[in-house]
Amino acid sequence: MTEVIVVGGGAAGMLAAWRAAQRGARVTLLEKKSRLGTKILISGGGKCNLTHAGEMEEIRRQFRSNEAGFLKPSFYRFTNEDFLELLTGQGMKVYTRPDGRIFPVPPTDAKDVVEILERHVRDAGVKVRLDCPVEKILVEGGVVTGVQVGEKVLPCTRLIVAVGGSSFPGTGCTGDGWKWLAELGHTIVRLTAALAPLYLDPTPPDDWSGVALRDCVLRARKQNPDSSTGKERMHWRGDLLFTHKGVSGPTALGVSREIAEALPENSTVEVDLYPDEAFEQVTARLLAQAQQNPKKTLLGLIDDAPLPERLRKPLLESAKLDPATRCAQLTAKDRNRLANTIKGWQVGRVRAVPLERGEVVAGGVALDEVDSKTMESRKIKGLYLCGEVLDIAGPVGGYNLQAAWSTGIVAGDSAAQNAVE
Ligand SMILES: Cc1cc2nc3c(=O)[nH]c(=O)nc-3n(C[C@H](O)[C@H](O)[C@H](O)COP(=O)(O)OP(=O)(O)OC[C@H]3O[C@@H](n4cnc5c(N)ncnc54)[C@H](O)[C@@H]3O)c2cc1C
Repeated sequence: MTEVIVVGGGAAGMLAAWRAAQRGARVTLLEKKSRLGTKILISGGGKCNLTHAGEMEEIRRQFRSNEAGFLKPSFYRFTNEDFLELLTGQGMKVYTRPDGRIFPVPPTDAKDVVEILERHVRDAGVKVRLDCPVEKILVEGGVVTGVQVGEKVLPCTRLIVAVGGSSFPGTGCTGDGWKWLAELGHTIVRLTAALAPLYLDPTPPDDWSGVALRDCVLRARKQNPDSSTGKERMHWRGDLLFTHKGVSGPTALGVSREIAEALPENSTVEVDLYPDEAFEQVTARLLAQAQQNPKKTLLGLIDDAPLPERLRKPLLESAKLDPATRCAQLTAKDRNRLANTIKGWQVGRVRAVPLERGEVVAGGVALDEVDSKTMESRKIKGLYLCGEVLDIAGPVGGYNLQAAWSTGIVAGDSAAQNAVE
C-alpha cells in the first residue's frame, strides 16, 4: 500500500513528494493536469521569480503577522538558499535583481525550473500520475484513509493536499481543496483576490491601454457614499500599467488585496506622480518653472514630468486647466490644483478585483487549524496541508513561491516520518 499520497503537482506538492520519498516513504503524486507545475510555468511572466534574497526573518516579515507567525518554523527549516541549491546543484544559474527578486539566468526560465524539480521528484522514486483529478478525500473516524479518483479508491495512510488556490483556473487550480476541507470541518477564511489587476469605472480611454507610469505611488482610498474619497486603505510604490479594463502592474497588484477585502465597500485609486516630493515642493517647483518660462503653455510646463506624452493633456484637464494656457497666466489657485492632481490623480473607482486573474488568492484554510511545525491538520489525523490552499498570501517578489517551497518540505518531512515510523 502507498504510505503517502500527495495531491497536486505544483510548487508545494512537488517539494513535498520529493522530500517524503527522500525520507524513505513510498510516495505517489497525483496531478490533475497532463504535466507538473503548470502554474510555475506562468510565474513571473514565464521567467519565474523563484524566491527573494536576504534573511528568512526579513522575508517572513513581508507577510501579515498571523501568516508570518505560522510560516516561521517552515521558513527556518527550508530557506531561500536551500531551495536555490536544488536548482544550482543541477547546473542552473540564478541572479538577484536590485529589488531582491531572484530569477533563473536567461535563457533558462520557468520551464527549466519545472524540469529540474520534476527530475528531483522522479529520481527520488516518486510515482507520478498525471491526468489524475482527485475528487474526494476519504476519512474514517477522523483519520485519513485515501482519496477517490473517478470510480477508484486509492488508499493511503498519510495524505498531503497541495492543490493550490483558484486563480488562473486553466492551470488546474479550481479551489477543489477548499471544498473538500470545508466538508471535513475546516474553516475556510474568506477567499478574495490578491495580487490582481484592478478593473475601473470609468474604464481608461482606449489609447491609454499599454501606457506605463514608472515609479509612482498608487493609493487606494475608501469611497464615501457621497462619492467623495476617504481614508487611505493601502498604497504601493512602483510601476503602473493602464489596461483596457483599468490598471495593472506592481502598484495595482500591491493594493488589490486590501481593496478586495473591503468589498462591498467602494474604493477609488489615485496616482502620486512625484512620490519623493511633498505637495509644497511640487507647487514651489511649478512656480519656479512657470516664472522661468512665462511663454510656455501648461502642456510644455509638465513635459519634464514622469508622465508619458499621451497622458499629459488628460492630467491637465483633470486639474480643470486648459493645456494651451501660458505659464504667465497660471494663478496660485491653478498651481495648487495642478500640484494636487500631480500628487493625487484620480484614475477611477474600482469596479472589480478579478479573483481569477490574481497571482494568488488570499484566504484559505484557517492557520490555527494546522500545526505550523508539521503542517498536519488539527482536525483530521494523517492529513497535511501546504502551499496556497492555506490562508497565506504574500506580496509580489518571490514570497509566495517561497511559502509553497517551505511548507511543502515540512509537509513532506512530517508525513514521511509518521508514515514509516
Ligand atoms: C500569473 C502568475 C504569476 C505568478 N508569479 C509568481 C512569481 O514570479 N513568484 C512567486 O513567488 N509567485 C508567483 N505566483 C504565485 C505562485 O505561482 C503560487 O503561489 C504557487 O504556485 C502556489 O503553489 P501551490 O503548490 O500551492 O499551488 P500550485 O503551484 O498552483 O499547484 C497546485 C497543483 O494542484 C493541481 N490540482 C488542483 N486540483 C487538483 C485535483 N483535484 N487533483 C489533482 N491535482 C489538482 C493543479 O493542477 C496544480 O498543478 C504567480 C501566480 C500566477 C497565477
